[in-house]
Amino acid sequence: MAIKGIVTKRLYVKYTRCRRAARYEASSPDSAKLSLTIRQRREETRQLSRLARSLFTGGEEVGSRADDYVALTELAKKTDSLLSEGRTVYDGVLLAKNFSCAFDVAVPAEDGVNFYVVKCATAPSENYIRELAYLAHVAKLKGIKVSKISLVVTDQNYTRGKVVKESALLRKIDLTRRVARYADKVAKNCEELAAFVQKSDFPDAELCANCERQFGCEYFADCFGKWLDKPSLFTLHGVDSATRYRLYADGIVSMDDLRANAHLLKPKVANLIKLYDEKAVSVNKKELQKFLSGLWYPLCFLDFESLQSCIPRYRGVRPLETVAFQYSLHVIEKEGDAPVHYGYIAPDGEDGREEIAKRLAEQIPANSCILAFGKFLECKVLGQLAQMFPDVRAKLLTARNNVRDIGAVFASDTVYYGDSLGSRSLKTIYRCVDPDGAHGYEVGAVHNGADAMATYLMFPVMSEKEREERRAALWEYCKLDTLSMITILEDIKKRV
Ligand code: SF4
Repeated sequence: MAIKGIVTKRLYVKYTRCRRAARYEASSPDSAKLSLTIRQRREETRQLSRLARSLFTGGEEVGSRADDYVALTELAKKTDSLLSEGRTVYDGVLLAKNFSCAFDVAVPAEDGVNFYVVKCATAPSENYIRELAYLAHVAKLKGIKVSKISLVVTDQNYTRGKVVKESALLRKIDLTRRVARYADKVAKNCEELAAFVQKSDFPDAELCANCERQFGCEYFADCFGKWLDKPSLFTLHGVDSATRYRLYADGIVSMDDLRANAHLLKPKVANLIKLYDEKAVSVNKKELQKFLSGLWYPLCFLDFESLQSCIPRYRGVRPLETVAFQYSLHVIEKEGDAPVHYGYIAPDGEDGREEIAKRLAEQIPANSCILAFGKFLECKVLGQLAQMFPDVRAKLLTARNNVRDIGAVFASDTVYYGDSLGSRSLKTIYRCVDPDGAHGYEVGAVHNGADAMATYLMFPVMSEKEREERRAALWEYCKLDTLSMITILEDIKKRV
C-alpha cells in the first residue's frame, strides 16, 4: 500500500518511465487489485530474495513493507541500528526525509555498506540499474557511504539437482560504476518527485514504448481499456509502433477515425480495414486444399500450458526453462466421429512431465495426425518428454513428427477473415468463426497463456477455495483451445 507523501523505489522507477504510472503507484490503495501475473512475479522475487540470504549468513530480518508512516519509521530505525552495529540486514529499508528505499541485503564493510537487490532475471536491465541508483541516492541522503551496490540474479546455466543450491543458482553482479553514472539524474528526479507526491493531478495517458516495453505496463488496461475489446487502433494489426503512437497522439483511434485517415496507414494495413468493412473471407483454395490433404485420421488436437520460473521447480530444470504442466487433447478416430477429450493438470508442486508423457503416449492413437496452433511449443515439449522418458520415446517422437500447424493457414493468409483485423491468434480466428463460443475466453478467470502460468505458479499461496476455482478455470481454458481448433478446422474445410 502506498503511504501518502512517501517516495518509494517502485514509485521512483515508474516516475522515470511515465508520470501517469507514477500517479497510479502513488495512489494505489490496494495491492489485491493487481493482476495475478504481477502478483506472481512479485511472489517469485520474494522467494528468490529469501534464497539469496544464504549467500550472506548471520543477518537479521527487518521487513520493508509498512502500511503507514509510523510503521515505516520503525522499520527504518531498526535497519539503521543494525547497520550501525555492523550487522548484516535482510529485507531492510532506508528512510531519508520522505524518500524510502527497500533492499534485500545490506552488509556493513570496512569503508561503508554493500547493498544487494535481488531480481527474477538472468541479467541486469536499465530499469534495475535505475532502482539501484535510487537506492544509492537514498543511502547518500542518510549519510551512508555505499562501498558496493549489486544485483543478485539467477544463473541461466544452473541446472537444479534434488534441491536448489543457492550458491550455484544465484550470481552477484557488481554495478557500482554503472550506478554512479546515474547520480546527477537521480538527484534531479528526486527533487521533482518531492513536489510530485504532494499533488494528486492525473496526467493523460500517452501511448508510447513504455506502455508496451518488456511485459507491458501494468496499467495498460486502466489507460486504454475502452479500446481493447473493440475494433480500434489497438486491435488493428500491422501498424508499426511509431505510427501507432503518432495516431493515438493525434486522436485517431476509433475505426471511424482510422477509415477517415486511411491515407496515413500503409496500403496493406488500410486494406485490412476495407476487408473488415466488407466482412470478407479470402481463401487461397489451392493452398488450403494442399494443407487439408496433408491431414489424416485419427486426428488429434493438442495444446500444452507451460511455466517458466526463475527458481527451477524440478530436478534437471534450468531458470526460465519451459516446463509443461498441463495439456488438452481432443481425439477424433475417424471422420464423422465425435471428439473425445483428455486432459491433465499436474498436482500443485509436482513435476507432471512423466505423467504427461505416459498419458499422451497412451491417449494419442498410433500414427495419428496431430493439429496444434503455432506448433512450436507442442513440438518442443514432445521432444523434451521423448528425451526424458525412454519408455515412451518412440511414441512421442512419432507424435512430434506428425504435428501439423493449423495456425500456418492463417499466418500465410491462406484463409483470411476480414473480422480478424490482421490478427492471427487462435482466439481471434476462433472469434471470427464462432463469436459465441469464443466468449468462453472472456468469462473465465484464465484468458491467455500468461494467466495460465501465473495461475499455476500461484497455487501454493492460494486458499483452498481459490485454488479449486482457478484449477477449474485452467481446465476449461486449455480445453477451449483444442475445441476451438476443431471448430476452425470445420469452418476452413467448407471453404475449399
Ligand atoms: S499504460 Fe502507458 S500511459 Fe498508461 S500508465 Fe502505463 S506507461 Fe503510462
